[in-house]
Amino acid sequence: MSANNFLSRTESCRCPPEAGSAVCGLPARDFQRSPRAAGACPECGKIGKSIRGQTVKARLSVSLRNIRNMEYLFCRTQTCPVVYFSADGEQSFTVEQVRERVYQKEPEVEDIFVCYCFRYTVGDLRVGSPQARTVILEDINTGINAGQCACDLRNPQGSCCLGNVRTVIKRLEKPDPVTT
Ligand SMILES: [Zn+2]
Repeated sequence: MSANNFLSRTESCRCPPEAGSAVCGLPARDFQRSPRAAGACPECGKIGKSIRGQTVKARLSVSLRNIRNMEYLFCRTQTCPVVYFSADGEQSFTVEQVRERVYQKEPEVEDIFVCYCFRYTVGDLRVGSPQARTVILEDINTGINAGQCACDLRNPQGSCCLGNVRTVIKRLEKPDPVTT
């Protein structure tokens, strides 16, 4: 959450091998770091979803000078502030460093976009009748079929929103008995 995300977490010995770096007094990086599963979010530990570099570049609000030529992943955990992180776990970008609010982090909020390409919010789905929801779904499908969507550039998850839209609709039409 701080600028320290861009700095290396531990100092490593920069002595060349012939100068005896193997026996250097500084602790080795790998020795200090606890093992992290491949693709696991450095904050919540859940496995992220691989995401295209252009999505990260399109969605971030920070300087792209920080983006390295490596794989980035998307963290879907609702309670985790991290949106994108580098595959090596060295860098993470939180909700404050993304240009738009992220559906996965606030799926119950009225004015959050669930469809970023055609601008439908959770609230749009919530206030509508089942018929109105069908019209929204049809509009999204029509847009997709017309090649008008740009999910990799507009949606923070970098892929089509339809699964999320259907999840919201299902939740509205079959409310959780615990919350009602
Ligand atoms: Zn996370």
